[in-house]
Amino acid sequence: MELKTTENQRMIADMVRDFGAKHIKPKMREWDESQEFPVEVFKKLGELGLMGVLVPTEYGGSGFGYTEYVTAIAELSRIDGSIGLSMAAHNSLCTGHILQFGNEEQKRKYLPKLASAEWIGAWGLTEPNTGSDAGNMRTVAVQDGDYWVINGAKNFITHGKSGNVAVVIVRTGEVGDSRGMTAFVIEKGTPGFSAGRKEDKLGMRASETTELIFQDCRVHKDQILGTIGEGFIQAMKVLDGGRISIAALSLGIAQGAFDAALAYSQERNQFNKPISSFQGIAFKLADMATEIEAASLLTYQAADMKNRGLNVNKESAMAKLFASEVSVRVANEAVQIFGGYGFTKDYPAEKYYRDAKLCTIGEGTSEIQKLVISRAVLK
Ligand SMILES: Cc1cc2nc3c(=O)[nH]c(=O)nc-3n(C[C@H](O)[C@H](O)[C@H](O)COP(=O)(O)OP(=O)(O)OC[C@H]3O[C@@H](n4cnc5c(N)ncnc54)[C@H](O)[C@@H]3O)c2cc1C
Repeated sequence: MELKTTENQRMIADMVRDFGAKHIKPKMREWDESQEFPVEVFKKLGELGLMGVLVPTEYGGSGFGYTEYVTAIAELSRIDGSIGLSMAAHNSLCTGHILQFGNEEQKRKYLPKLASAEWIGAWGLTEPNTGSDAGNMRTVAVQDGDYWVINGAKNFITHGKSGNVAVVIVRTGEVGDSRGMTAFVIEKGTPGFSAGRKEDKLGMRASETTELIFQDCRVHKDQILGTIGEGFIQAMKVLDGGRISIAALSLGIAQGAFDAALAYSQERNQFNKPISSFQGIAFKLADMATEIEAASLLTYQAADMKNRGLNVNKESAMAKLFASEVSVRVANEAVQIFGGYGFTKDYPAEKYYRDAKLCTIGEGTSEIQKLVISRAVLK
């Protein structure tokens, strides 16, 4: 694995930092308070090529690999995790699913719009009663000639309301059959397809999370991605890549929390000394820096393997598990280093702390990552 930062990674990191300083930092507190999903920021990220990072240039994307993708998400999340989460969901899930499993016509139709952020993408697997156990889903599609009629609901869907197009995985066969589910790509405005309740969340508040509702929603068979019955298997492959992006998101949040805590520890005086001069604080910083480095190595290892076309099922789960838990631990210690000020909204530590927690839940909880890893090691 190449450990040296490439010119492209440096260019992307500089670009994202510059973009964040101008377009995210001045408004992110306001978006967090009001739970506003800032669509205009995503349009601008599209202009920078960050909404189709992995999409080949022939479909209007940037044509980068996973290494550059990890750098982009981590740098963005170092500033604001909500924007990083939305970027990850758009790129890895909706766009990634169409890129991996769409036919040529579907790719030509959707990828340029998604890569430019003319359209925002959503991806629906989770349902109210089936999260970790997604294969047990109850949203069903029944064939009617050339159409499929969908009924049911998905929940916790990123961009469920603002998304212009969604990839949804629904049941087309028997419950309990992993080949009994199919992926459809469905455009906003299709009769019978609507967004439901928007969640009021602990963190990641500028990333929109809503229900998707299907009431006799008729979708033409041309909207099927891949073949009938392949949907759940496709979704698991999409998540193998997606988990690398959640590891990157975790890494960025951890780095942002660390940066803030490091700077504060050198400015804040108690007992007539900067608090960083106390070993109790300096050792915290040492542990935080070491854990971030280890999470970074696991994440870039998974990205490198993915670039080389290797199976990353275990490695992406390991990166996601470790980086997300590190993110929570680092953000927790950052609040501690800020003391009482860490508990207030005047300083950034509390937001990192709230945002980090999602990383141990989204795209499979830590417990589910351990299930994936243990299955691989026990094979
Ligand atoms: C902000 C946000 C954005 C999201 N975006 C999307 C999206 O865009 N698309 C989408 O499809 N989904 C999305 N999700 C859903 C997310 O993937 C699920 O919340 C997650 O998979 C967990 O499912 P659940 O919430 O139903 O929890 P549950 O599955 O009910 O789990 C509850 C607890 O039980 C544990 N548990 C469950 N099964 C086991 C087991 N076998 N062994 C040990 N422990 C177990 C879990 O680890 C967890 O601790 C999002 C969620 C959030 C919060």
